[in-house]
Amino acid sequence: MADFVLPPPPQPSLDVVGSAARFPVRRIYCIGKNYLAHIREMNADERDPPVIFQKPGDAIVRNGGEIPYPVLTSNFHYECELIVALKSGGYNIAPEDAASHIFGYAVGLDMTRRDHQAAALAKGLPWEITKAFDHSAPVGPITPVARTGILKDARIRLSVNGEVRQDADIAWMIWGIDEIIAKISEQHRLEAGDIIMTGTPAGVGAVVTGDVLDCHVDGLEPLQVRIGARAA
Ligand code: MN
Repeated sequence: MADFVLPPPPQPSLDVVGSAARFPVRRIYCIGKNYLAHIREMNADERDPPVIFQKPGDAIVRNGGEIPYPVLTSNFHYECELIVALKSGGYNIAPEDAASHIFGYAVGLDMTRRDHQAAALAKGLPWEITKAFDHSAPVGPITPVARTGILKDARIRLSVNGEVRQDADIAWMIWGIDEIIAKISEQHRLEAGDIIMTGTPAGVGAVVTGDVLDCHVDGLEPLQVRIGARAA
């Protein structure tokens, strides 16, 4: 074993349905602009290819956790998304081979500082401040694909304090899961432990301290998180 000059940081991980062992998270890839109704509510170009970006692996918040209201925003948004977890990877994965790399699925949230997104786009700046901040990636337990089969359609919905705000079907994705995996692997070598946030349907909106978010995809374990006090 190598010695380190500091204690190595903890390995981010997720619960796995039906297993006492945990899924180690390596990278979090995200797809933007993958549901037409959401593109329209954001006034974005409907014919652009999907955006690929990352969040740090340690931005994971597990089911039942609390998300501190982030600093430097006053327009903190939820985006409920289907999560795909990979058991293997590679470069240039063909769409027809993509399913063989899937370990399982979960429900997650791409939390967003929406006020900074507009500013970053307008100025051509990177959008780490918008998407890749601490606690920006709540993800529920992973259900192995052996239990679900390959997911092609399933209702996806999010409620805030019991009121439904997003209600759609993953079949409405513009770019399917196989195409997403293929597309990311053109840019990055995907690896076991990578998870992919596959984009959000319409109905995004702001939350405040004290709000409770419930996220569901039919057939998967739900995710619930609470918005905490403003981060110090
Ligand atoms: Mn998103």
